[in-house]
Amino acid sequence: MQKAIAGIDIGGTKIAVALADSEGRMLSHLRFPTQVELGAHRILDNTITAIERMIQESGAKLIAIGVGCGGPMNRQRGVILSPTNLPGWDEFPIVEMLNRRFDVPVSLDNDANAAALGEYECGAGRAFDNLVYITISTGIGGGVILGGEIVHGVGDGTGEIGHITVQPDGVPCACGSRGCLEALCSGTNIARRAKERLSNGEQSSMRTMVTDLSDVTAHTVTDAARDGDALAREIWDDTIRFLAIGINNIIVTLAPEAIILGGGVSTAGEQLLAPLRRQLEARVKIMPLENIRIVQAALGGESGIYGALILARRAAASREA
Ligand SMILES: [Zn+2]
Repeated sequence: MQKAIAGIDIGGTKIAVALADSEGRMLSHLRFPTQVELGAHRILDNTITAIERMIQESGAKLIAIGVGCGGPMNRQRGVILSPTNLPGWDEFPIVEMLNRRFDVPVSLDNDANAAALGEYECGAGRAFDNLVYITISTGIGGGVILGGEIVHGVGDGTGEIGHITVQPDGVPCACGSRGCLEALCSGTNIARRAKERLSNGEQSSMRTMVTDLSDVTAHTVTDAARDGDALAREIWDDTIRFLAIGINNIIVTLAPEAIILGGGVSTAGEQLLAPLRRQLEARVKIMPLENIRIVQAALGGESGIYGALILARRAAASREA
């Protein structure tokens, strides 16, 4: 009987589930809305049902599961600890529950770590052993891979790149600190800065692009900046400057071979990357920046599910070893 591994990528908006053969080739792939209001147990039940159906259709035997989920979490205990994007997932023993249902090894990791792993093995990071993945989306998260391994650190906290201080004593952040990268440069906060300036009465073509000011998103800002709108350009320039400060700190600390940018805001592509590289050239003086690639994620929204499958494959391999 063919052996299969399953990957699960749990986000606050969507859940992706995939089945692959033991070589990692994808057999089937499904995405559905998380519906956070259903609560942890019913959401996991729906996910389990989806996996069971996929296994049945493939006729394969499941040998391992990999899970990427928003943190904080305790990987050793296999427990999710109240992520901000998954209300009610408090002390949720996801590994034990999957074990109970499938009786196979389950490997759990932070969703940004899983996405970093996906890019490392299957995406923009394939040529490198040392990289930092940064996702700029509703929030900002990251994963650090050194010597081909995810770095976890105390409390599995490595890679909380969204909470690097980029503005001393700056705006309050959801984490309780101030001036964090996420508080200024997440998609949500790029939009917030634009809305604040617009509600102060400043002139901008962004007004004509939405029916209501509350509809302004980071994409409104990037589109208007591309078309030359002065206010949008200023907000975008500030975004790049804060990102450059944060990424400078990462580069001089870790000297990675690559910085890979993923998440919705990274789809701005060269509109983000070209000025970011210029800013970094002006900041990073202590090491050769030309040997550090600043690139866009190659797998887009799929980095996380590829990473979950890699976690599963590694769990299966360690079981066999
Ligand atoms: Zn913070």
